[in-house]
Amino acid sequence: MTRSEDLFIEAGKVIPGGVNSPVRAFKAVGGTPIFFEKALGAYTWDVDGNRYIDYVQSWGPMILGHAHPEVIEAVIAKARYGLSFGAPTEGETTLAEKLCKRIPNMEMVRFVSSGTEATMSAIRLARAFTGRDNIIKFEGCYHGHSDSLLIKAGSGALTLGVPSSPGVPAVLADHTITLNYNDAEQIRECFAKQGETIACIIVEPVAGNMNCVPPVPGFLETLRELCDQYGSLLIFDEVMTGFRVHPGGAQQHYGVDADLITLGKVIGGGMPVGAFGGRRPIMEMVAPSGPVYQAGTLSGNPVAMAAGLKTLELLEQPDLYARVFAHTTQLTQGLQTLADEFGIPFTTNHVGSMFGFFFSEEKSITNFKQVMACDIPRFNRFFHELLKRGVYLAPASYEAGFMSAAHTEADINETLSKAREAFARL
Ligand code: PMP
Repeated sequence: MTRSEDLFIEAGKVIPGGVNSPVRAFKAVGGTPIFFEKALGAYTWDVDGNRYIDYVQSWGPMILGHAHPEVIEAVIAKARYGLSFGAPTEGETTLAEKLCKRIPNMEMVRFVSSGTEATMSAIRLARAFTGRDNIIKFEGCYHGHSDSLLIKAGSGALTLGVPSSPGVPAVLADHTITLNYNDAEQIRECFAKQGETIACIIVEPVAGNMNCVPPVPGFLETLRELCDQYGSLLIFDEVMTGFRVHPGGAQQHYGVDADLITLGKVIGGGMPVGAFGGRRPIMEMVAPSGPVYQAGTLSGNPVAMAAGLKTLELLEQPDLYARVFAHTTQLTQGLQTLADEFGIPFTTNHVGSMFGFFFSEEKSITNFKQVMACDIPRFNRFFHELLKRGVYLAPASYEAGFMSAAHTEADINETLSKAREAFARL
């Protein structure tokens, strides 16, 4: 019995399913989750002493790689002054200023402690601003687990077969309209019928919770156009894409403006931070400057702000993004070449430092239906063949992968040589 197996049994006695977030449990891929002990740069080590090249990177936040010494230093230095005050601190303004400078259309921002809180608060604000109740989301997109958004959701909800969770009141679910990602025609029809009732569209501008599915040309532009035409707000959920697909996020990458933007992951550098922000007249409706209530005991936590600030500062190093993006391309192209060599139907997607791969006959994957038709058992075997060889991928086929600035060409070559052995056993 490994120590991970032991720990998982113990955890299961006191924590539902032995984990504090469902996908961690390896339910999709089978087997026992690996319990981690430590991480540095591109690598993690489990409690049994095995090293992994990590392409999960805490599900996205660790764009600099794990335990970057300067981030750790910033956290330790700040922690010495106290962990939380429940009162304003200067670091909150400094990080807010940085976000407003970097992210288009972000004139004001409010910090929260998770992506879930960010999207939940953003849709409340959109409903208040427009005086409308209905919202549109896309099947397979995940925006955290607040009631209105846990309808036909992606990520763990999809993996575990509960995309629309029990416990969400039907009266609330009725106000969430779920459409097909990348289907501009369908959303046009929906707006033609009931555009005046739509408070907002919330979208992952690159879907990263049904594997990795970029927007087809014109899709995001159509959302912008319809929102303008019908007075609805466009919310880009950039919890995953923010500072990852482009230093200015997906808005800048695709040249499409959002009214509200949600952030998380990278902006906290591995600490619990989320944020929602946007145009001033909308954000001024948030309490206490306006009537839309939103709050948090640990919001804007000083230690978390310090981690986020140092992370964003380090991301400003010249050529950092270019290097990470090139490595992402190198990995996806390398995997494709290997799959082709072995005659395995396979295709990949990537945007910036986010990537996905699919065991599929399709040449290009652009929608949820195609994702669902992929050969999942084959993914699961591939996952375990790589895990055995020291490469840690997301333990479910509906998740994007993440490259960090700490991954080197040598790491990618090592990954590819292990992938060759894995493909050979499929
Ligand atoms: N939005 C998106 C796009 C996400 O990927 C996630 C989490 N993966 C969330 C929201 C929710 O964030 P959190 O898990 O921090 O609540």
